[in-house]
Amino acid sequence: MDEILNEVTNTIHKQEPGNSALTTPCGVTNNLSEDRLQQTAIEQLDTTTITKCGRCFDDGGGY
Ligand SMILES: [Zn+2]
Repeated sequence: MDEILNEVTNTIHKQEPGNSALTTPCGVTNNLSEDRLQQTAIEQLDTTTITKCGRCFDDGGGY
């Protein structure tokens, strides 16, 4: 469970390492309430229907 899904935009972000709160390196969680975010694992997601955050993932698209 190292990723955070933004349920509003269907975008997956990385969880900031060593931080138990829902924070991401790109800072998206600063602008969202935590009830819009879901802690998850990317392996459990259908990556054809979600977008990877371009700032959290090197191979990501937008954010
Ligand atoms: Zn991100």
